[in-house]
Parts: sequence; C-alpha cells; structure tokens
Amino acid sequence: MTVSLKNLRKTFADGTDAVKGIDLDIEQGEFITLLGPSGCGKTTTLRLIAGLEEPTSGEIYINGRQVNDVDPGDRDIAMVFQSYALYPHMTALQNMTLNLTVAGLSKEAANKKALATARTLGLEDLLDKKPGKLSGGQRQRVALGRAMVRDPVCYLMDEPLSNLDLKLRELMRTELKRIHKKDKVTTVYVTHDQAEALILSDRVTVMKDGEIQQVGDPVEIYGNPANEFVAEFIGSPSINLIRADITENGISAGGLQVSTRNVPAGNGAITLGVRPEDVILGTAESDGLKGKIEFTEPQGGIVHAFVKLEQSEKILKNRDYLVVSIDVHESIEIGSTVGIQFREERMNCFDAQSGQSIETTS
Ligand code: ADP
Ligand code: MG
Repeated sequence: MTVSLKNLRKTFADGTDAVKGIDLDIEQGEFITLLGPSGCGKTTTLRLIAGLEEPTSGEIYINGRQVNDVDPGDRDIAMVFQSYALYPHMTALQNMTLNLTVAGLSKEAANKKALATARTLGLEDLLDKKPGKLSGGQRQRVALGRAMVRDPVCYLMDEPLSNLDLKLRELMRTELKRIHKKDKVTTVYVTHDQAEALILSDRVTVMKDGEIQQVGDPVEIYGNPANEFVAEFIGSPSINLIRADITENGISAGGLQVSTRNVPAGNGAITLGVRPEDVILGTAESDGLKGKIEFTEPQGGIVHAFVKLEQSEKILKNRDYLVVSIDVHESIEIGSTVGIQFREERMNCFDAQSGQSIETTS
C-alpha cells in the first residue's frame, strides 16, 4: 500500500498547530518512521493517516485514492499503540481472534489464523493466558499479533515498544524487522528514539514543531543531516557542534585552522558538525586544536572521551566537552593533552544563522 500526504495540516480546536502542512510519499512495502521529540506531531500525523483525526486542510491518498472522507474501518489499516489495550477478561487467543470473528470469520478459521501468527511471535504456549498473567513484552506481542492476524495492507505503529524494558525492546525490534522483511507490509512507525528509528527504517522522517525536517535513509540522515536540528537529534552521544569561521585557506575554529575545505558563498560564521567517531586524537605537538582528556565513559567496545578544549566555551556550541569515540583497545590517558583533528570528508557545515546545511568543496 502506498500513502501520500499532500500539504497536510491539523489545527486542533484550541488553536494548536500540530501538523503544519507536510508532504510525504510512502512507498509500497516500505518501513518508514516518524521521528522527533515529544509534541512534534507524530501521533497526530499517524491518526490522520488512520482516519482518527480529520485534517484541517490538505489531502491523504491511499493507493492513489483520496481517503479524506473514508471511514477508519474502510482504510485497511491496522494500528498498534503504545498502550496495548487488550481485553483483560479474554485470553490471549480470544484477544487475537476477536476482530476476525466480529468480521464474520468462523471461530475455527480465526483460531487457525491466530495460531499461525502466534507461532511467528513465539506465543504458542501463552494463548490460554489472560493479559494479567502475561509480562509486558508478552502483552505487547499479543497486541502485535492481534494486528497481524487481520493481514492488514498497512501497519501504523505508535511507539509500540516504549513500555518495554531495554532487553525486550531490543528483542522486539529485531522481531519487527524480521517480520517486515518477510511480509513487506507497508509500515509507518512513530518513535522518539533515534536509535530505534535508525535500526528499523528503510527511511526516516525527522519532524520538529509539526514540520518535516528531512526524509532519508538512515545512512543519509546520520551522515548528511539537512540542518543542525537533525544533526543533533540523531546519534548518541550527539554530534559535536563547533563554532567556526570561513577563512581564505579553509575553516578555522578558535583562530586555528581545522580544515582546508572551502565553503562557497559563506558569510563568515558557520557551525561545524563533527561526529564523535570522526575526531582523531594525536599528539600535543601537532598543529591545530588542542585539549585535555578530562574523563572517559566506557561503553564496552568503545570508550567516549571528554576533551576540554583550550577555549572550550568559545568553540563548542552545544556542550562543555568535545566528545570523542575511541576503540577500547586504543590507549588513552586521562589528564593528557592531545592534538585534535577532524575527518574532513565526514564533517558537516551549517549556516551559523539558519542552521541549514551548506555544501563544502575541497
Ligand atoms: P507527538 O506524538 O509527536 O508527541 P502529538 O501529535 O501527540 O505529538 O501532538 C502534537 C501537538 O498537538 C502537541 O502540542 C499536543 O499537545 C497537541 N495535541 C495533540 N492532540 C491534541 C488535541 N486533541 N487537542 C489539542 N492539542 C492536541
Ligand atoms: Mg505521540
């Protein structure tokens, strides 16, 4: 199923502009996420697609047909919410088959379908249990199963994993990915968790204040963010934002040259975005920026080093330390002074005023 949103807008009765005219084309079989901070309009967008909210203006097309006036029940869409909303007095099996029997399927046929789905989700042994006897993860799988048995042509999922603990979330994430790879059902998935979005998505839609900031595959979104907001929202620890200037010979920060790249049509001040893994630490004798490793955060395979730059406050825009990712097997010494270089080809440049990405040339 394809979904197209054209200049879609939702202003609630109290005047809240939740969705401010968004355009989005969702392809057949695609797993696309709506990602952004709380309140940016993700749920509203999903509910507009489902038909649970009426657009203030703009159009929604499903498989090329405008559905603005089509009832939610006639849109062939299955929604999975953050709160599972299972019926407590029914068993897992009954919860999963209810929609099917209501739709007129025989009990036998409905059970057969539910059983097949339960197998996919590893729920076979739990079908006789009521939700009260199931763990959070099991309940969420039943809720997912209830959506899956309907063979929808599209899933709309609103933070379906956010109530689960970390380990379960990881398991379910893999499970969702596996199911999507097998069935290729178009899925629109809402999350505020950038890692989840990167892991699951064919494409990520980054939203802020009711507007789309960027749509792209995970590699593109991470490597070539359209603006400072996207750059900072994606990635953990977040990108280093560095106040820099365009000079005749390239780019400088704190009066020291940090790059030979050229920024055409610049007005002088820019913001450099450098991911923690794109900082190279060298000896204190080298030219360029220098700093002191003040502390580290071991993460297992990698270590994050927090480097206080000479003029840190002046140079760093979003925090006090330059954050550097280092392989755990590399040796670093807390308290030592290091030279700092950036991987030029992976740097991002943003206009210091607008925050929009600007191209550089070598
Ligand atoms: P998200 O899912 O990204 O957290 P929502 O789509 O739920 O964001 O909300 C977007 C904005 O619209 C928020 O400011 C929220 O408070 C507001 N909002 C959501 N639902 C309603 C409603 N029914 N009436 C008024 N404002 C609403
Ligand atoms: Mg929401």
